Amino acid sequence: MAKTYDPQNIFAKILRGEIPNKTVLETEHSLAFHDIAPQAPHHVLVIPKGAYVCYDDFALEASEAEIVDFTRAVGEVCRMLGVQPGEGGAGFRLISNAGDNGLQEVPHLHVHILAGRRLGRMLPLPE
Ligand code: AMP
Repeated sequence: MAKTYDPQNIFAKILRGEIPNKTVLETEHSLAFHDIAPQAPHHVLVIPKGAYVCYDDFALEASEAEIVDFTRAVGEVCRMLGVQPGEGGAGFRLISNAGDNGLQEVPHLHVHILAGRRLGRMLPLPE
């Protein structure tokens, strides 16, 4: 069953045009925009336009058209940023936080594309 979606989350407001964003790419089912607090020289968020809370929700509930569009949008943004390894780019990291343990702040699915510097360990060592 789909998770309960809060239509007042900040990315829903961006999708409704209620607050501004710095758009990188817009497709039929997806939107990519610059993170407001970048943690790397390139930090772009890609979100589906549909009301999905996090990745498992999207992967299980979204239509094939939405999934293909979203996945292609991620690839297109990497191409636009010039970060594709092996094709002149120096690589990137794709992150999608989910729920409390994932420290997800905004309850609308987003993937972070981070690039432009060496990004360090994937996870900090446990304390
Ligand atoms: P997460 O912890 O994975 O939910 O990440 C949420 C991300 O959204 C953070 O990196 C924030 O900096 C970013 N963010 C929050 N509000 C905005 C906004 N209005 N425009 C762009 N990025 C935002």
